[in-house]
Amino acid sequence: MNKMISIIIDGKEINAEEGRALLWVALENDIFIPNLCAIKEKARPSASCRLCFVEIEGHPRPVTSCTQTVADGMVVKTRTPEVDRLVTTAFELLLSDHRLGCSKCPKNKACALQRIAKERKLKLKPKRLNKFVKDYPIDDSVDVFVLDRNRCVLCGRCVWADHHIAKVGAIGFSQRGIKRKVSTFGDKLLSDSSCIQCGECVKVCPVGALSFKENHKDKV
Ligand code: SF4
Ligand code: SF4
Repeated sequence: MNKMISIIIDGKEINAEEGRALLWVALENDIFIPNLCAIKEKARPSASCRLCFVEIEGHPRPVTSCTQTVADGMVVKTRTPEVDRLVTTAFELLLSDHRLGCSKCPKNKACALQRIAKERKLKLKPKRLNKFVKDYPIDDSVDVFVLDRNRCVLCGRCVWADHHIAKVGAIGFSQRGIKRKVSTFGDKLLSDSSCIQCGECVKVCPVGALSFKENHKDKV
């Protein structure tokens, strides 16, 4: 264990292990920082969702808290006009191609997007950007879960769980830009892939893109 140090986040003094990622230190101390792609066990964060910005005294601009390690005496603010601007822009971009429909979504009331919107007083239906709603067919070809790419935020957590927890390698990302999506090898249905239906990918999905069929009931 590294030595313990002291930092201040939003005026609250916190003891933390030197070298840990600021994001996890904040979350473990009940200080909310928006995030979608972060995985505690992952050694090198992907920092792809661009939601976990904070300001640190002495730094010229906001930094992503998942990539920032804590150091003694660090003074952090999770809310500043510049942080809020960056988070709002990233959140609106994420939702610009998201197929909303929370009441019929299996993740309703347990969704990371809903939590971020509530905590930061952001709208799930941003008006600033033109909406390009995804229109992928839903893959419900396996018994245990459903993959709805129209609700995917491309966080990569399912791919990491498939590769590093399940150690199967059934899914990955294919295509680039707005066509980027979670795919099986050869873009086949899950039932025609090497998926073993262990559900590890479903457990880490922060939104309603991967969901257990038992949670659908009257929804879908
Ligand atoms: S993924 Fe979240 S924001 Fe999207 S429809 Fe489902 S509950 Fe709503
Ligand atoms: S399916 Fe879920 S876990 Fe996988 S990339 Fe999309 S949102 Fe993330």
